[in-house]
Amino acid sequence: MILTAILLSLSSKPARAALDVRSAENLASHFKTKLNEGELKSDAKQLVIQLKWESDRVNAHATRDDQGNMLVTVDGGMLRHQLMTEETFMAVLCHELGHHLGGAPRQFRGNTQFRGWSSAEGQADFYAASKCLPALWSNQNVEKSGPEWDKALELCKGDRVCARVGLAGFALAQLFASERPDSGHLELGHQTQFPVFTTVYGHSTPQCRAETFLAGARCADDKDTPFDPQNPFQGDCSEAGGGRPACWFAPEEFR
Ligand SMILES: [Zn+2]
Repeated sequence: MILTAILLSLSSKPARAALDVRSAENLASHFKTKLNEGELKSDAKQLVIQLKWESDRVNAHATRDDQGNMLVTVDGGMLRHQLMTEETFMAVLCHELGHHLGGAPRQFRGNTQFRGWSSAEGQADFYAASKCLPALWSNQNVEKSGPEWDKALELCKGDRVCARVGLAGFALAQLFASERPDSGHLELGHQTQFPVFTTVYGHSTPQCRAETFLAGARCADDKDTPFDPQNPFQGDCSEAGGGRPACWFAPEEFR
């Protein structure tokens, strides 16, 4: 109920600065409850969210403990960032969870050809947008206004959850772009013209991340089908002509 109350009060006005400790902790705890009782639960592993307020780094990361539980850590510099909002925070948590549950393509382990447990950065975004955020927001009928919302709704063919997810990803990409002076202007709905020939496993550009979130948001019809650890084409909308954007994903490598 707390999450619903907070999120329904959002508007498309410019983001207010950062998150306060209490709202972030409430949101993190609601996120955990929602996942533990819902369809995103996996193999009885626990999700532990650590908010490191004392750290000024603009960062978040996913690790595992010795028991295989899923740890997600968000640093204070990220939570206090002036572009951070409740919805962006949800996108961050979903991205980090995506490293645990996002499936293929997964990162390589060290300098070997073996795959580790962690999904690639682009896949964590794709999971966040196509499985995690829709699971959190599908029962909420949020209406916003403004040119960005109208554009997102148009790109999502009128689907409000898709528009909200696409915009949350765009806001997160803008947050990262503000930390990378060479990012250039981001555009919602822009599609990269030149496909990669080899899959990018690390962070792609903020524009590519925004593109991935929008592609994931448009691929949420099958949000209850988990991604597969080996086969990246399960539940990814590629058969329907959608799927991950070509700015980081090279499908031919997996066929
Ligand atoms: Zn990541």
